[in-house]
Amino acid sequence: MNCNNHTEVVAVATCNECNKGLCKECANIYTIPICTECNDRLKSQEKFSIYKSIGISIFCGILFWIFAPKLGLFMENGKELTLGIHLLQFYAGAGIIWGWNILTRITPSGWILSIYAWILLWIFKFFISMIIGMFVLPVVLCIYLYRYIKLSR
Ligand SMILES: [Zn+2]
Ligand SMILES: [Zn+2]
Repeated sequence: MNCNNHTEVVAVATCNECNKGLCKECANIYTIPICTECNDRLKSQEKFSIYKSIGISIFCGILFWIFAPKLGLFMENGKELTLGIHLLQFYAGAGIIWGWNILTRITPSGWILSIYAWILLWIFKFFISMIIGMFVLPVVLCIYLYRYIKLSR
């Protein structure tokens, strides 16, 4: 088999994704042997997953910002909501998804519970997720920003 880009050169490796032949030069462009088309495709897929995660996070933030006052969360009775409280509600909501993901990863699955127990568990998980999320959100955003900058280079 010859290199897909240099048809006169013998391939020494194949693309990890599509098995196209790669010569020594082409196989060493990236850290793993992968062709340029597949590398571009993986990059844009990863970028898309970053957009999606941030989008979901913003959506959760807006949703929580709308519903938190109705649930009486982050409020002092009878007081006007300040801008800080509005931001806190949005921030807490935006973090829930990340806290939820972490909890899902570290808790064992396959529990057999009644529907009421599940609802209680979900409510409990929701609040724990919110607390975890408030700490994790800035870290996650930094990691995503770092990944995004690396992908854009
Ligand atoms: Zn490929
Ligand atoms: Zn080549």
